[in-house]
Amino acid sequence: MTLSSPDGSAVPGVQSHVTCPFCGILCDDLEVARSAAGLKVQRNGCEKAIAGFERNVAGASPQVGGRDTDLATAVAAATALLRASRLPLYGGLGTDVEGVRAVMALADKSGGVVDHALSDGQYRNFRVLQTAGWFMSTLTETRNRADLIVVVGSDLHKLHPRFFERIVNVEASLLTETPPKRTVIFLGQGLDTSGIQGSRVGEIVSVPCPLDRVGEVVGALKAEIKGSPLRLDEVAGVKMDVVKGVAERIRKASYGVFVWAPPSLAFPNADLTVGLVSEFVKELNLAGRYACLSLGGNEGAVTAGAVCSWQSGYPLRVSFASGAPDYDFTRYAIPKMLEAGDGDVLVWVASFTPDLTPPAASIPTIVLGTPGMKLASTPAVYIPVGTPGADHAGRLVRCDNVVSLPLRNLKRSTLPRGADILAAIELAI
Ligand code: SF4
Repeated sequence: MTLSSPDGSAVPGVQSHVTCPFCGILCDDLEVARSAAGLKVQRNGCEKAIAGFERNVAGASPQVGGRDTDLATAVAAATALLRASRLPLYGGLGTDVEGVRAVMALADKSGGVVDHALSDGQYRNFRVLQTAGWFMSTLTETRNRADLIVVVGSDLHKLHPRFFERIVNVEASLLTETPPKRTVIFLGQGLDTSGIQGSRVGEIVSVPCPLDRVGEVVGALKAEIKGSPLRLDEVAGVKMDVVKGVAERIRKASYGVFVWAPPSLAFPNADLTVGLVSEFVKELNLAGRYACLSLGGNEGAVTAGAVCSWQSGYPLRVSFASGAPDYDFTRYAIPKMLEAGDGDVLVWVASFTPDLTPPAASIPTIVLGTPGMKLASTPAVYIPVGTPGADHAGRLVRCDNVVSLPLRNLKRSTLPRGADILAAIELAI
């Protein structure tokens, strides 16, 4: 079956092996049908994918000061604001590789600051990577080799609904005909374990403790495995015999992987928890094979960090105000800059989900966003843009940072690419 696309060309009615851009694990096995009514996820889509692909984005118009206008007028208005700006802030950054490249070029030319909306989560990782390094696994290695998965204080099922299905519950392994059953340990209370199921799954162990005290349990596990157990009855509300049992399972593993999603570790100094886990994994490697695996990457966060790193030499929170990249993860955090009254124009890019809304700002805001965003106040300029992988082709870096995946144009709409709008503004200023 073929259908006519908005630009008149013929496209298949059903596309298979579609890559989903709506969370960082970038599942590439979806089947999506397109009809006059829009896109329909037919196979392998989780609720996030269905919400993302099947959303109606028709009818959105560029706006200046809340009034509908044409695209050229909106681009001209955005250009005028940026031309007059002394310190523009480029935030959100929910876009693909080309979109982030365009943001970087515009920030460079206009002397602005770049920061992703989910940078707080990413910096829980970056600070450990920058100061101490780590052993990181990949989705593929974990899928094929792990016999133990330790979930560290993260609701993986909520943030990445198919992680367990695609990486943990799989029956086959590339390395052996008879892969062992997997033990899955959840460190932290209130974590959704419902995604763990199937013949490959062995024991499921829950260690309920407050998420901000997971680091204490990791410390106790470390002491136990080192042979100098804590002389306590419990740690973070977890009985020591439970700690001993978990330590024993870790010790026996052939390839244990400690998995977290940085946005879940949303408590003060959570980078210390990431650091503790990372150091524990390093020590475990003295006698076996263990690794960390960080998920995240929703809303293009990992892509933004990767592109910013390879273009400026630094991860996010970089300022071009001096004419050269200046990196300071505290000073150039856009939410804090807005609170402090720094910056005079906010450019907010959110092309994947309408949930990525800009923070309250007393300065003019230019929003390049997917239709349907519920904005707290009327932006100076709003330009609706397409979603990479639904409305136009694109590319995203996967959460494990080892591959970038191409995204297909499913021709959901004819909305413009955010990268093209940003490039047009850059050319004009
Ligand atoms: S788990 Fe993530 S990448 Fe996979 S289908 Fe769901 S939203 Fe898309």
